Amino acid sequence: MKVTEYFEQAGGETLISFEVLPPLKGGGMKAIFDTLDPLMEFKPPFIDVTYHREEFIYKQRPSGYYEKTSIRKRPGTVGICASIMHRYGVDAVPHLICGGFTKEDTENALIDLNFLNINNVLTLRGDARKFDGKFIPEPDGHKYAIDLVKQVAEMNKGKYLDVNIENGEKSDFCIGIAGYPEKHFEAPNFHSDLNFTKQKVEAGAEYIVTQMFFNNEAYFKYLETCKAAGIEVPIVPGLKPITKKYQLNSLPRLFHVNLPEALTKEFDKAKTSEAVKEVGIEWCIEQSRELKKKGAPCLHYYTMGDADTIKRIAEAVF
Ligand code: FAD
Repeated sequence: MKVTEYFEQAGGETLISFEVLPPLKGGGMKAIFDTLDPLMEFKPPFIDVTYHREEFIYKQRPSGYYEKTSIRKRPGTVGICASIMHRYGVDAVPHLICGGFTKEDTENALIDLNFLNINNVLTLRGDARKFDGKFIPEPDGHKYAIDLVKQVAEMNKGKYLDVNIENGEKSDFCIGIAGYPEKHFEAPNFHSDLNFTKQKVEAGAEYIVTQMFFNNEAYFKYLETCKAAGIEVPIVPGLKPITKKYQLNSLPRLFHVNLPEALTKEFDKAKTSEAVKEVGIEWCIEQSRELKKKGAPCLHYYTMGDADTIKRIAEAVF
C-alpha cells in the first residue's frame, strides 16, 4: 500500500514509522532485524531504508603517491527493502538519491523496485561527498531532487528514458520528499527553500518527511508556512532523541538544526552519561506527545540502530 493511503486510512490518528540504515558492507540483515524486531509491536505501516552513496578514500601507493579510491561502505536498499517486507509484511520505503546515479541507473533501480512491488520511494538529492565540498551530480544524473521526482512521475505514466519503449508498464510509486522546518543549509533563505519544496509537490511529490528538529514550534510554523504557500500534502515530523553529549555539537554540524536553550540547559545539569540519555529521551517523549496531540499524521523516528531508546519513547507515546 502507499504511504499516503495509510495516512488516509488512519482517519486523523497518528501513525508511527521508523528509519533504518543499511548495515556496513560485510554485515548482514541481522543488525536491521535486531533494530526492528523489538519495534514491530508498535505496528508501523512502513519502514524507511536510507541510501548511502560511495565515498572516496586516499590510499598511499608504494611510490608514496596517494591514490583516490572509491568505496561503498553500505549496500543498496533494494534487497534490504524486499527482506523487510518479506519478514514483517509491512511496506518498506527505499530512499533514492541523485548522487552517484545516472538517470539510467535510477530507471533501473525503479524497475527493480516495481518488479518487487515496492511502490513507495523517498526521493532526495543526497549530500556532497566529503572531498567534493559541494554536491556534484553524475554527468548524466540529476542535479536536484525535483528532477528525480519528475523521473519517477514520468515512469508512473509509463514513460521510460528509452524512447523505443512504447506503452511501457506504468509504475505506481508514491513519492515522498524531504522538508526542512529550519531551512536547508544551502538555501539562501527559508522562502527560497519552500518555493523549491512547492515545486517538488507540483511535480508529483505526495508527502514530506522533515529533517529532525528539537523545537516543535519550528515544525508548527513550517506547517503554517507550507499551507500558506499552497503545499497541502501530509508533513511527517522526523524525530531523533539525543542520547550522547557530543551530539549537542555533532547534530547541529551534520544536520544543520538548532537545539533550543531550554534543552541545552537540561543537558548542562546532567552529570553522567545515563543522565544525559534520560534528558534526551524525555525531551523526545514530550516532543512526540505534543506532535501527536496536535494531529501529526505520523511520527517518524530515526532509529540509528538504537532500538532500546526508540522502544522506550514509543511505549511512552503510543
Ligand atoms: P533538493 O530538493 O534538491 O534541495 C537541495 C538544495 O537546493 C536546497 O537548498 C534547495 O532549496 C535547493 N534547490 C532545490 N531545487 C532547486 C532548483 N530547482 N534550483 C535551485 N536550487 C534548488 N541523504 C542521503 O544521502 N541518503 C538518505 O537516505 C537521506 N535520507 C534523508 C531523509 C530525510 C527525511 C531528510 C530530511 C534528508 C535525508 N537525506 C539523505 C539528506 C538529503 O539528501 C540532504 O539534506 C540534501 O542536502 C538535500 O536533499 P533534498 O532532497 O532536500 O535536495
